[in-house]
Amino acid sequence: MRGRPGFQCRAAQTTVYRDEVSARCSLVRACHFARRLCTYNLRGFGLATPSSRRRAPDIRAWSGAPSLNSSLISTSGSSRHPATNQGKRLRIAVDVDEVLGRFVYALNKFCKDQYGMEYGVGDYWIYEFAKIWGCSQARSNQIVHEFFESDHFREGIPIIPGALEALTRLSEADYELVVVTSRQHVIQDETLEWLDRHYGGLFEEVYFGNHFALEGKSRTKSDICRTIGARVLIDDNPSYALECAAAGIHVLLYDWDGAYPWSKLPTSGAHNLDLIRVVRDWKEVETQLASLAPRLRAAADDS
Ligand SMILES: [Mg+2]
Repeated sequence: MRGRPGFQCRAAQTTVYRDEVSARCSLVRACHFARRLCTYNLRGFGLATPSSRRRAPDIRAWSGAPSLNSSLISTSGSSRHPATNQGKRLRIAVDVDEVLGRFVYALNKFCKDQYGMEYGVGDYWIYEFAKIWGCSQARSNQIVHEFFESDHFREGIPIIPGALEALTRLSEADYELVVVTSRQHVIQDETLEWLDRHYGGLFEEVYFGNHFALEGKSRTKSDICRTIGARVLIDDNPSYALECAAAGIHVLLYDWDGAYPWSKLPTSGAHNLDLIRVVRDWKEVETQLASLAPRLRAAADDS
């Protein structure tokens, strides 16, 4: 019996199963994350990048790349681009959960349906589920990993309003967008599929921190951002904001409508707060980036 379907490739008209992971990568990741490499005519499948967003192939990016897997989607920090100012395009790192998609909203629905646990987004005064649910870390990990196996996770995470439109405008301007997420390796495929479904063609690379993982090494967001040359991180987690600010990286702390209880900075004792700006929606992200960009570009020119 085959594994459960892992991906329906709209271009090749095939279903790729989870036990065929090695066979799927060259096509799936090529056509969905680097359309420039794909030989299929994707337009008929609604996957073609609009001409306004289409980029010329960056041949340099592929020279010496050992494999599609390690060059496009990285957990090691190796980048297709050197960690410098790329033709004056500012590299912006974007978090996934609560910035691009409503993870906790979907998790709450799963908890209610599966266990009768009733929580709202407003209950999360800290983004550590064990503390909110009043259970052990092991039990919390178990629930979250059950969630990863559910349709609530695969199909039920809505996007954050305004994100797609803002990111489209930013990608058409002088910004290079990459994803830097704390998500774990075990949900790498689902994450890539979700990103492609909702934000296809917008991100150059995707980096996984593998935090709170049951296995595998993790990597801090500040380390990833510094290594890949990201000048700004957009993230909802104040811990990551402070960590990156301490490393000299600007942060836009995403507190959607001011309604993320966990997304608050400490009122005292924090350093480098001047590098952190709170934003409440994606319009504010654009405004703050427009304000920061000249200074960051000037600093890059001087360096
Ligand atoms: Mg987040």
